[in-house]
Amino acid sequence: MASIEKVVRPCSLEEAYVLNQERSRVVLGGFMWMKMGNRNIAEAIDLSGLGLDTIEESGEEFRIGSMCSLRSLELHEGIDKEFGGFVRDALHHIVGVQFRNGATVGGSVYGRFGFSDVLTCLMALDTYAELYKGGIVPLKEFAQMKPDTDILVRVIIKKDGRKASYQSQRNTRTDFPVIAAAVAVKGDTVYVAVGARPSKAGLVESTDSGLGQGSTNEEISKFSDWARDQFTYGSDMRAGGDYRKHLASVYIRRGLTELLGGEKA
Ligand SMILES: Cc1cc2nc3c(=O)[nH]c(=O)nc-3n(C[C@H](O)[C@H](O)[C@H](O)COP(=O)(O)OP(=O)(O)OC[C@H]3O[C@@H](n4cnc5c(N)ncnc54)[C@H](O)[C@@H]3O)c2cc1C
Repeated sequence: MASIEKVVRPCSLEEAYVLNQERSRVVLGGFMWMKMGNRNIAEAIDLSGLGLDTIEESGEEFRIGSMCSLRSLELHEGIDKEFGGFVRDALHHIVGVQFRNGATVGGSVYGRFGFSDVLTCLMALDTYAELYKGGIVPLKEFAQMKPDTDILVRVIIKKDGRKASYQSQRNTRTDFPVIAAAVAVKGDTVYVAVGARPSKAGLVESTDSGLGQGSTNEEISKFSDWARDQFTYGSDMRAGGDYRKHLASVYIRRGLTELLGGEKA
């Protein structure tokens, strides 16, 4: 288990940023992931005094502070209403309620974990990472950036009218997902994020999917196979790459069927 020798609580983001430039220091989210390691942390930077534990909603967007718990994201009424239970569906499989009360949105997004339901779900929406020095970066770009010494201040989700559906499969209830698929539809555009491949979530966006309300099962299946093929799949102790690839098209299809009608696949 990891240990921490000293915790510092900066009074401003600037102070947190300056402290974080030193390699012996790390930023603390909920410490749920980091504590699983065996690192001896000389100084941990605790952001909990910076008011980053709230979700602000306006007509255009949700601004989610990095210290918000996964549970508060899961239970947020505005988010639930805007995205029809999509975020809740993605998060409620993660370990258990107590765990989600501790794990933070900041740690989850900053970590860019391959298995992440959080990253997969947010990527299918119009989501941005707000970095203290790096500014506001689309989540798709942030996911590809190498971890550095910046501070993730907020995650911003735009209310752009997307409707979305989340599907995942686990070998056992509280394990990491074997595959995670988030699909979203806005007008003619379809967004598909697939994570736990087992590499981290990626996003494909199709403006000419030809899909819409009333698309047939055959059309949805054809598109799902195409979307599946835009990603690579690997093997690990949980599943083989071929199996993951098969599951990806099943879950993309189920998600699209939910959003566009047709028979349940
Ligand atoms: C046993 C277990 C099972 C899990 N299962 C799942 C699962 O099924 N699905 C899923 O999606 N996730 C899963 N997770 C991951 C979990 O949901 C969180 O994503 C993870 O714990 C990180 O959040 P944290 O708050 O604990 O971050 P921490 O452990 O505190 O930090 C993680 C990393 O982010 C950095 N960091 C934190 N906040 C910031 C910030 N604001 N700015 C810059 N850097 C920052 C830290 O320095 C560290 O490098 C699991 C984790 C564990 C331990």
